[in-house]
Amino acid sequence: MSRKPFIAGNWKMNMTAESGAKLINELKPLVKDADCDVALCVPAILIPAMVKAAEDSNIKIGAENVHWAASGAFTGEISADMLKEYGVEYVIIGHSERRQYFGETDETVNKRLHTALNSGLKPIVCVGETLAEREAGETEKVLTRQLSEGLKGVEDIKKVVIAYEPVWAIGTGKTATNEQAQETIAFIRKKIGELFCPKCAEKVIIQYGGSMNAANCKGLMAQPDIDGGLIGGASLKLDFATIVNFDK
Ligand code: PEP
Repeated sequence: MSRKPFIAGNWKMNMTAESGAKLINELKPLVKDADCDVALCVPAILIPAMVKAAEDSNIKIGAENVHWAASGAFTGEISADMLKEYGVEYVIIGHSERRQYFGETDETVNKRLHTALNSGLKPIVCVGETLAEREAGETEKVLTRQLSEGLKGVEDIKKVVIAYEPVWAIGTGKTATNEQAQETIAFIRKKIGELFCPKCAEKVIIQYGGSMNAANCKGLMAQPDIDGGLIGGASLKLDFATIVNFDK
């Protein structure tokens, strides 16, 4: 079953309009022949400038979050229509930093996910265990909960990208081994098969995220169930192009 690889960057709270546009302009020629889908998820205020910088290229721009309501009294939040108005295609939902620092729960992940799908945004839903959970042997239990609650009620699971991001590997320089990442992502695919249907699970794009970089991307991407990467630190530099060209 062939799935088109998908490499996405997550700039988090980094870059300015000037430095972001400079990076995108440098990346454009380097990634133009990519065999995979390419996106950069950027801070909301940078979206218009980054969409403009990425014009006429294969780099799609994504957001780092979306609110579930269409509009209303939600100070500081951004709606799906606002994102779409500026040409956003992808949106990260339930990143572990949002779960850890901003009270994101499986329930709010699910609400944001439905809004994204209903408005035509392509969601990248993040799941992953903490170090304590892995060490306690609870990885599968945690992932099962995040998947069954977070994806509840989704009609077409093929429209959802899943990013498996072990929290202990994010921004730490500590990558999951190829085997750990493959084993856990295979578990996620199996679970999606049980929750939805095995045939659909074969079509779902599942990324690995957690200190993926220019040096380790090839090994991770060679794993049969790993369809791409969600890249934090390495998406802030030209290394992102090396990851996008992992198969060259
Ligand atoms: C992330 O933020 O999704 C991430 C994987 O970060 P890093 O690549 O820096 O570990």
